[in-house]
Amino acid sequence: MSSTRPSAQRYIRSVNIDPEWREPCELAWESLTTGSFPVGAVIRDAAGDVVAVGRNRRVESTVPPGQLGNTALAHAEMNALAQLPPVAYHDHTLYTTLEPCLLCTSALRICRVGEVRYLAPDPIWDGVADIPTLLSEQARRTWTRRVGPLTGPLATFCEALTVHWYLRHAPHMVSDHQRDMELVTLVETLRTAGVFDCPTATDALNLADPALLAYENANLSRSED
Ligand SMILES: [Zn+2]
Repeated sequence: MSSTRPSAQRYIRSVNIDPEWREPCELAWESLTTGSFPVGAVIRDAAGDVVAVGRNRRVESTVPPGQLGNTALAHAEMNALAQLPPVAYHDHTLYTTLEPCLLCTSALRICRVGEVRYLAPDPIWDGVADIPTLLSEQARRTWTRRVGPLTGPLATFCEALTVHWYLRHAPHMVSDHQRDMELVTLVETLRTAGVFDCPTATDALNLADPALLAYENANLSRSED
């Protein structure tokens, strides 16, 4: 498996996308390889310069100073935001590979970051974007703008990474939307990125971990009902 990892980075760098997305994707990949949940985040200032980066570290006990690790709270966005001194960041943008959850959406507002852009949808958090409608005018006025999900190969790649992680660690968390993703699309995306070191999607399926095969079998038995 380790010999295939550099090709995932080559894949990320080969995709024609705004370059500010490459580092969040590489961070998401790094999280996956450590066993943490695959999400990466980068904060840029108005000039486009990077001011903080973070990635999910939920199962890592050794972390950079000031960041969260070995806790369910160790989200990528939290670890990037935690590095910002407490002033306003209305002209800053946080780039993240997955739709921000309720925790990180709140943290973005608390840290007064102007905008968040995300690649892949997270159906688990459908409805978070509507939260400002429940809040005071003051909270609503300074709520972080939310841009996403985006489309294209890296958005699919980031969604596939999260589905891959859920299948291995918490299969019950795979959402209906993600179950609707064609399995062959999911596997082909991961194969192209080098997660599965195989010449074809069929070979990748044959070598996929047991959870992925169980998922395929469940789909097959459902379609035969
Ligand atoms: Zn989060």
